[in-house]
Amino acid sequence: SDTDVRPALTLLIAAPRGFCAGVDRAIEIVERSLERYGSPVYVRHEIVHNQYVVEGLKAKGAIFVEELDEVPDGAPVVFSAHGVPKSVPQEAQRRGLDYLDATCPLVSKVHRQAERQIEAGRHILFIGHRGHPEVIGTMGQVPEGQMTLVETMKDVELLEFAPGTELSFLTQTTLSVDDTAAMVEAIRLKFPQIVGPKAEDICYATSNRQAAVKEIAPGSDLVLVIGSPNSSNSVRLVEVAEKCGTEARLIQRADDIDRAWLEGVGTLGLTAGASAPEKLVREVVDRLSEWRTVEEHTLVSAVEKMVFKLPRQLTE
Ligand code: SF4
Repeated sequence: SDTDVRPALTLLIAAPRGFCAGVDRAIEIVERSLERYGSPVYVRHEIVHNQYVVEGLKAKGAIFVEELDEVPDGAPVVFSAHGVPKSVPQEAQRRGLDYLDATCPLVSKVHRQAERQIEAGRHILFIGHRGHPEVIGTMGQVPEGQMTLVETMKDVELLEFAPGTELSFLTQTTLSVDDTAAMVEAIRLKFPQIVGPKAEDICYATSNRQAAVKEIAPGSDLVLVIGSPNSSNSVRLVEVAEKCGTEARLIQRADDIDRAWLEGVGTLGLTAGASAPEKLVREVVDRLSEWRTVEEHTLVSAVEKMVFKLPRQLTE
């Protein structure tokens, strides 16, 4: 009723948050492919790890599959932003499929580094999360047995190589900046001769979003991260907030918020993973505003200007 007074809620919104340049590009590749080739356009794996994005593209005529053998002959197919093992474009070529590669250029960069390390005769330690498509894609750039996945400190302890083995390391792009630094330190301590990139391969978007959540978390009673459970960088944002000592929850969208979570919360932090559209952030703010008198503050810790070019097939 009119006499209800919604209690105040201070909302600290992180910036940067949400879409990165690689996600923007990947979605645009699917959209432009649909315009150019008509529907259906096949997409191998979720183009980016977000259900809302995937459903939106399905409605426009995209068909999502997990493997190439589900793509009929003659149909165009897009590879997701996470990248694919070398065998995938090879197979697409063999079948004469018209394929578009939406692999983020920053992931492709790691792929090329992997090839170079193997050419230089080095075995690669790859820091990443087992089973993530980016990890499968990057490990699939080199012959089997030439790259070892390292996921935990325990894995580092267990590493053993014959004396004289030349080593290098690479990393997944969406890891925790702090955890990875500690792991790299342990690796360098154990293998002082190891060759590594100047900075880890963690991308600008991942680092910026983690730095931004560190700005909002300490002053918040609860942090909400919008993102999918299979989105690596989103899950890392929850962990970073928790490491600041603040309770944090991953939500896919407004409907996931349990109103009970807000009891006793005067300041709420809000951010979104690199694959989560800004529309979902606004949806959450609108939902919160139904319950509370929201005072919104955006805390800007960096400004991003990165834009990646589309594949030539779509610009010619
Ligand atoms: Fe590329 Fe980083 Fe975005 Fe992944 S999170 S798509 S590596 S910019």
